[in-house]
Amino acid sequence: MLIERIWAANNYRNFHYLIACAETGEALAVDPLEWQLCLDAARSRGWKITQVLNTHEHGDHTGGNAGMVAATGAKVLAHAGAAGRIGGVDRGLSKGDVIRVGRTVELECLDTPGHTMTHVCLFAHTEQPALFCGDTLFNAGAGNCHNGGDPALLYETFAAQIARLPETTRVYPGHEYLARNLEFTLDREPDNASAVQWLAKARGQEAAAAPVTTLGQEKDFNTFLRLQSPSVIARLRESFPEIGERPDARAVFLKLRELRNRW
Ligand SMILES: [Zn+2]
Ligand SMILES: [Zn+2]
Repeated sequence: MLIERIWAANNYRNFHYLIACAETGEALAVDPLEWQLCLDAARSRGWKITQVLNTHEHGDHTGGNAGMVAATGAKVLAHAGAAGRIGGVDRGLSKGDVIRVGRTVELECLDTPGHTMTHVCLFAHTEQPALFCGDTLFNAGAGNCHNGGDPALLYETFAAQIARLPETTRVYPGHEYLARNLEFTLDREPDNASAVQWLAKARGQEAAAAPVTTLGQEKDFNTFLRLQSPSVIARLRESFPEIGERPDARAVFLKLRELRNRW
């Protein structure tokens, strides 16, 4: 499985991805808003885009579908429940579906509600696994729930699915927010040495060269995966004393999400 990350250099700070079969050169484009950039990248590698996958229905993920389909004839895949709102979807996806690219690539569809109610992530069971997580998990952060989402379901998705994937899983989110999210981590957990180091690195770097993190690294510096951390809990109690000394992980997640909304 070949992976090409494409930095959109737009105000949304989108990351697009091409996932290609090394044998056939067929490729799947994930959320290709700046579809021409994706097409150029594919052509320069000799790949042919045969599928477009939308992780969810927001326009900053689906807005490139029409252009890409017109240029390539690619089939469009999205959550079955989002297909009506997106339009032009050829294959509606459900939990556990397998998406094949060429002869060698297989991606498992995870049903991951929270950012919206119809959001999918793709998981590759490769030697080093990979997760294409749209607006569910970001580097050092979690998606917001302002536009059709539900924070309680986002917590369930994190706890029951994301956090249980192998620690070696490479994380490929839909946007580049690393430095901003690490600043939130340090606001919540000023003694997080890992976040201090990563923030210094992130600030000195162009977004196009942002690191690809692993889930294990995310567990070190992503507040939304550190719900049992004594310093996260102690600091949270300064704002929400009512959560008590031993809040459950769900309560911590929901309060963090609430704070991040106005931070
Ligand atoms: Zn979104
Ligand atoms: Zn987005």
